[in-house]
Amino acid sequence: MKAAEIRSKFLKFFESKGHQIVASSPVVPGDDPTLLFTNAGMNQFKDVFLGFDKRPYSRATTAQKCIRAGGKHNDLENVGYTARHHTFFEMLGNFSFGDYFKQDAIRYAWELLTQHFMLPPEKLWVTVYAEDDEAYDIWHKQVGVPAERIVRIGDNKGARYASDNFWMMGDTGPCGPCTEIFYDHGPDVAGGPPGSPDEDGDRYIEIWNNVFMQFNRDEAGVMHKLPKPSVDTGMGLERVTAVLQGVHSNYEIDLFVNLLAAARKAVDGSGAAGYDADSPSLKVIADHIRACSFTVCDGVIPGNEGRGYVLRRICRRAIRHGYKLGARTPFFHKLVAALVQEMGEAYPELRQNEARITEVLKQEEERFFQTIANGMEILESALATTGKAGKTELDGETAFKLHDTYGFPLDLTADVCRERGVTVDAAGFETAMNRQREQARAAGKFKMAQGLEYTGSATTFHGYEVLLHETATVTAVYVD
Ligand code: ATP
Ligand code: MG
Ligand code: MG
Ligand code: MG
Repeated sequence: MKAAEIRSKFLKFFESKGHQIVASSPVVPGDDPTLLFTNAGMNQFKDVFLGFDKRPYSRATTAQKCIRAGGKHNDLENVGYTARHHTFFEMLGNFSFGDYFKQDAIRYAWELLTQHFMLPPEKLWVTVYAEDDEAYDIWHKQVGVPAERIVRIGDNKGARYASDNFWMMGDTGPCGPCTEIFYDHGPDVAGGPPGSPDEDGDRYIEIWNNVFMQFNRDEAGVMHKLPKPSVDTGMGLERVTAVLQGVHSNYEIDLFVNLLAAARKAVDGSGAAGYDADSPSLKVIADHIRACSFTVCDGVIPGNEGRGYVLRRICRRAIRHGYKLGARTPFFHKLVAALVQEMGEAYPELRQNEARITEVLKQEEERFFQTIANGMEILESALATTGKAGKTELDGETAFKLHDTYGFPLDLTADVCRERGVTVDAAGFETAMNRQREQARAAGKFKMAQGLEYTGSATTFHGYEVLLHETATVTAVYVD
């Protein structure tokens, strides 16, 4: 079954259960300053959960374009190194706005997976929020999942469970306990079951999260009851496709096999040769072209602040990995065509904007290749000086200046140094970075005057009142 068919089966299944099929919202949330990018299917329904907005339906189903490369859910650094994380992915979801609750949500999920997608029940594991006896009983007594495959997250993990089986959209907003469904990819893959010490491996992969939306968390962390208990679920299309196509990694599904081939071709065409075709770098490139293209498509351009800055980071991470493989001329923008080929039918906006997306990415890429060339010159001369002085360590100040003034990434510096048997003075780099951070903190106040301030790892709306109180800490944003 191809990804497109799985997407449509999901939507049709929930339509048959009285759900309205609703189109994906853009990856750039229209009117939610607490959110950098759309990170879940429920985002477009946030106000419906909160009771501020009414819809003509109480059940909905979507395939939502999501980006998790900043803010509360940030998977950027995982990409390339796990079988299951993307920066851009599609989240399949069903929603109940004060209509059904735990029992129907769990039953629908089980029915779809075992009777329509025909997954063997013994391959499925579930987790429930530690104190949620109701969900536990539904799984065990009604659905019949044996106790040894139901894990109460919390019993053995202390503080971790609150974040694991209690889902939050961000630091504020709708949230609630959840129950998650995992697929066991078998003993050939390393990793333990959910709740075990080695659960972070990729053997047991979480495919679907069912959230029982019950609270609205405010800025002070206080939980307010929602007007009505609701349901919000999310299943990663790429993850369930991997399961249904009988492969382990998301990067082995039809769509990614084609994108990886296109990435290889584009990198080769730009002069690279003799690299490992299974390298994380190719996965990074194939993944990032989706996030970058969809982001540009929905109106973002690379820049130094907010969304534009995150887009620039993703773009540059992809280019850096291409450079690692040996690419010496722009290659990344050439992948837009391959992406349109793969996803243009499901997302016609991609096809309509193909020329513009390609051009925006090409310009960013040309700029960054120039940055790399300039940085290489400075680095070469610093390395020559280091060598003449008989040292085998590049000083942290130079590494920081390359990063901060010339936009030359630290990991490229480290790579080049490694090739020459030279190390980088990490402590010296940190010192210089901290000094810069202090200066940026002061500069942050200026940016806040515009009302919107994105911090590096979390996105927070400070608003004008912060300027008056001056108590909020502002974290500066860095290109890494
Ligand atoms: P994980 O623990 O694997 O990082 P998660 O618990 O952060 O996943 P949820 O917030 O529960 O994920 O999102 C719902 C579903 O969306 C997940 O069950 C998974 O199928 C999918 N998903 C989440 N993050 C990603 C990602 N970065 N790439 C691809 N699919 C994802
Ligand atoms: Mg996650
Ligand atoms: Mg999880
Ligand atoms: Mg989850």
